[in-house]
Amino acid sequence: MRLSMDEVRKQHDGIKKLYEQGLWGATASVVQVLDLFDTIEALQQENQQLQQELNDLKIYSLQMENGKIDMKVTGERAKLFMSALIQFFEQNGGKNFVTTARMVGKDRYEITVRKCGGMTPADKIEALEHEIEQLQEVLKQAREALKNVDVVRCPYCWGKETHSDKCEINKTITEIDKVLGGKDDGKTDI
Ligand SMILES: [Zn+2]
Repeated sequence: MRLSMDEVRKQHDGIKKLYEQGLWGATASVVQVLDLFDTIEALQQENQQLQQELNDLKIYSLQMENGKIDMKVTGERAKLFMSALIQFFEQNGGKNFVTTARMVGKDRYEITVRKCGGMTPADKIEALEHEIEQLQEVLKQAREALKNVDVVRCPYCWGKETHSDKCEINKTITEIDKVLGGKDDGKTDI
């Protein structure tokens, strides 16, 4: 009879106890020994079957287009592989697409899982570019507003004629200039 791994563990622990007590000659029941043999045999068969299933894993076609995978696979393991990919996608937010990379030798491969109907990487870039443009526009407005602060009214520069180096308003204008690249058109190459 094939034993469960719990039963095998119990038998092992029992025999180990006898061994530790110095009862090396203690007899094990024939049934116990046969059960262990049966279990080993069953495990071996299972192992072979798994090996066979792994060999059956075949990818018939794999197309990558606009970040979308179209894959035809066969075998139980392959289906599990596909499920794992989708799970990976969902665990990583699962909104539009997720990319994973791997080096094989000197070459780098990327696999992208994309939800159909979701945003493509190109869509995402476009949306981000738009967002950056909006942020740059707001920054420009903030810079203008800060530049218009009269030194007489500046809380950091009492009694001075120009904004000092330690003036927070002055510092912020410098920081904004850095972010905007000092250009007035507000466009940044990305
Ligand atoms: Zn100032």
